[in-house]
Amino acid sequence: MRIAIGGIANESCTFSPLPTAFEDFRLLRQEDPQFAELYPFLTAFPEAEFFGTVTAKALPGGPVEASAYAAIKSELLERLRALLPLDGVYLDMHGALYVSGMLDAEGDWISAIRALVGPDCLISASYDLHGNVSERVMEGLDIITGYRTAPHIDTVETRERAVSLLLRCLREGIRPRKAFVKIPVGLAGEKTSTEWEPGKSIYAAIPGEIDGDAVMDATIQVGYVWADEPRMTACAIAIGQDDKAISSAASNLAALYWQRRADFRFGVEALSIDDCLQQAMAETAKPVVISDSGDNITAGGAGDVTAFLERALRHQPADLVYAAMTDAAAVQRCLDAGQGATVDLVIGGKLDHLNSKPLPITGAVEFIKLDPRNPQVLLNANGIRVILTARRASFQRRQQFLDLNITPEEHQIIVVKIGYLVPELKAMAKKNTLALSPGAVNQDLLALSFERISRPCYPFDADMEWSPTVQLF
Ligand SMILES: [Zn+2]
Repeated sequence: MRIAIGGIANESCTFSPLPTAFEDFRLLRQEDPQFAELYPFLTAFPEAEFFGTVTAKALPGGPVEASAYAAIKSELLERLRALLPLDGVYLDMHGALYVSGMLDAEGDWISAIRALVGPDCLISASYDLHGNVSERVMEGLDIITGYRTAPHIDTVETRERAVSLLLRCLREGIRPRKAFVKIPVGLAGEKTSTEWEPGKSIYAAIPGEIDGDAVMDATIQVGYVWADEPRMTACAIAIGQDDKAISSAASNLAALYWQRRADFRFGVEALSIDDCLQQAMAETAKPVVISDSGDNITAGGAGDVTAFLERALRHQPADLVYAAMTDAAAVQRCLDAGQGATVDLVIGGKLDHLNSKPLPITGAVEFIKLDPRNPQVLLNANGIRVILTARRASFQRRQQFLDLNITPEEHQIIVVKIGYLVPELKAMAKKNTLALSPGAVNQDLLALSFERISRPCYPFDADMEWSPTVQLF
């Protein structure tokens, strides 16, 4: 069996003014060493020959530049064309791609592949559960499956499921039928984690709907809410060999999600910036980890919104580490001044100029990390240590702090530009709060100006009524 692998993955916030450019994508082809790390399970399928075309991934950000998308798409199609005929294609996707000037970028991507490989080739995709699915996507794919955990700890497992389903269908000559139920609910990932209720029990219901034949797989997509596009909703999907069974599985999961829509809550206390700071300053256990959620880089925040830091400079906690502020010019100034120098800077507020303004700060250059790809500086302003990075960087691992000579457990307050904490940060935090701060991924959804989403949709139309409608493909 000849199987091509490719894909494009980006969570693009339509409210961010910071474009995602071609250079922001990491392009992986079969010859790259990381290719095998992404798909370690391929050796378990000796009956198939896999051809890695191009898989493009970028850190969540603002709209993808049309020229970047066009260049990646044309490389993929060119490589696919050279491999024809193919029995199957596996697409490693995210689902929340927004390309400037184009609605439903994944729909465009998948339709182009379908047109090239023809109707007999089976196409399977894996999605992040924060991806938004359209009818066009359902039409183009034969198999779709998504993550079942947030924070995502089943990424490799999900990719493997997409490949394994694809190979089984090819082996047994199955062309799966698909049931798709759009759930008119738009909620943030910070409320819909699968680590607490109701996300936990909703996702735990998925395996019970799968019997392996009539229903071969089922998926619930939370969707990505900071995407002002008509396809922005949650949805439930079931694939299999029996229309009635897949319709019922998708309806059951959709109804469950809908019933619990008002129960989704932040997993930790969510407070104003000032309240988060005051509470953390009074806490004796350390570190207290605060999420600067409006500028969460892992959801598309620009990484240079200054509101939180501005309040911290006013409150003057004795010991706070701020991870991090993206500012290439400020990093360069610190590098020029050298370790130990005192510098006057105006940082941040440039990438996300819509939600932020530059902030003056004076501090000592305490440590320099000369990473050629992303030099980083630790600036100490009276006990408030600000990590400055030349490029956007999300601090999710303890090692990233250690690399800057910071032992997280020794500090009172650590602020990260993240939403819910990933497992490594969670393990480190004695206490965690979420600051309802401004930025492109503001948690105050009702304050965002949506123009293109399908209405009615909860929570924007709080009193709406709804019952599941199944679309079969
Ligand atoms: Zn996600």
